[in-house]
Amino acid sequence: MAHVQQQATIVIGAGIVGLCAGISLVRAGRKVSLLEMSEPGSGASFGNSGLISVDTALPMAMPGMLRQVPGWLADPAGPVRVRPAYAPHALPWLLRWAAAGRMDRVLASAQALRALHKDAFEGYRELLGAQLYGELIRASGVVQLWETPEESRSDAVARELRELHGVKCEKLSADALREMFPGIGPVVTHGLLLTRNGYTVSPRRLTKALAGIFVREGGDLRCERVLKILPREGGHMSLITNVGNHAAGTVVVAAGAWSKSLLEPLRIRLPLEAERGYHLLLADCELELKMPIMHRGRGFGFTPMEEGMCLAGTVEFAGVDAPPTEDRGLILRRHGEKIFPKLNGRTTRVWMGPRPSLPDSVPAIGRVAFHPSLCLAVGHGHYGMVGAPASARLLTDILESRPPSVDPKPYALERFLGRA
Ligand SMILES: Cc1cc2nc3c(=O)[nH]c(=O)nc-3n(C[C@H](O)[C@H](O)[C@H](O)COP(=O)(O)OP(=O)(O)OC[C@H]3O[C@@H](n4cnc5c(N)ncnc54)[C@H](O)[C@@H]3O)c2cc1C
Repeated sequence: MAHVQQQATIVIGAGIVGLCAGISLVRAGRKVSLLEMSEPGSGASFGNSGLISVDTALPMAMPGMLRQVPGWLADPAGPVRVRPAYAPHALPWLLRWAAAGRMDRVLASAQALRALHKDAFEGYRELLGAQLYGELIRASGVVQLWETPEESRSDAVARELRELHGVKCEKLSADALREMFPGIGPVVTHGLLLTRNGYTVSPRRLTKALAGIFVREGGDLRCERVLKILPREGGHMSLITNVGNHAAGTVVVAAGAWSKSLLEPLRIRLPLEAERGYHLLLADCELELKMPIMHRGRGFGFTPMEEGMCLAGTVEFAGVDAPPTEDRGLILRRHGEKIFPKLNGRTTRVWMGPRPSLPDSVPAIGRVAFHPSLCLAVGHGHYGMVGAPASARLLTDILESRPPSVDPKPYALERFLGRA
């Protein structure tokens, strides 16, 4: 097994974030190795809802939400579940999440997310080229649904943020929804069309395409599991993997929810939690949707993927590597039947993936001040598919000492490590 050269850049993790970063760094003229313990795109990037929500910049913790948490937790079919044995581990993160729901912090997080999300279509077009972009990405619009006529406190804040960011949207009455989506159930009271949002028809094929581009453009993709990162004298880093040792001038950790355990031995204690989400893939489903539908109250949505109708979402706290809870798939089906009572189709897959989440929903992107040859691109939470292209650009700007495409401060990991 050849060693990666010392002046090279190594990216750990070939999810959507590591793949976009890998391509961006190769295009900046770097020698890049991407180490992936499994298949590229087999983590959270595999089975998500695929939304490229360029006009959505809502942190997950919002004013008024804390009040809803006990109800969510008491309902076994609710949008959030904490596995009882894992509750003591999740509690410190949940407390930080609740603190991040203060209005001043929400405004700051929304600004940071807006900067990363707003140009995602252009970012993917640049990464993929026109043909693959046309095959994989749809700027279709996305509809959000509600079952209650009243506006909740967090809905009101979401509306204020849309107004602040000048987001174009259209209110939809129950009748308008029935016309757009024949067969929609009577529980639905109203909706909102976010006209600029869109989706990928296949997160799986998107990551495969990016991996192909990375290799074609000179990147070195290896199936290796990084076991340990070791800072060395002279500023470079060493890596011990399951099959070899490597030296590198720069190491980028983009290992999603698994990043936490790689970073802890280096005394980098990020409050990174696996917000596990599920999907249920239906084949031969007669429901035809021209665009995805999201239901924030139930924490799930429908995306018309090329493999079938994908019902995805909900959050489970159980640790990154715990086995999936099988009934989460059934719960998604039941939610789906509430919205479309005649929902049919064969279940071809129940899937679970760990969202790599930081309490304020803003990813950590940049150098580690006390190990300058170590960089992070982690914590994209619910928004990795939309945030990856701009994150990759920002990371490359930082490593290449170029003027940053977006202000890097909101993403600096010092906000967690207490060093300015
Ligand atoms: C149900 C669900 C729905 C979602 N919907 C959306 C959506 O609609 N829009 C959106 O923008 N986002 C969505 N997300 C979030 C999105 O999927 C994530 O933010 C994104 O995939 C994170 O990408 P990542 O590259 O950071 O992590 P991952 O995709 O998890 O990639 C990390 C990679 O690192 C590898 N790795 C880990 N440890 C090591 C190691 N030691 N050595 C080598 N390799 C390693 C893993 O194998 C993995 O491939 C959703 C997530 C879920 C679960």
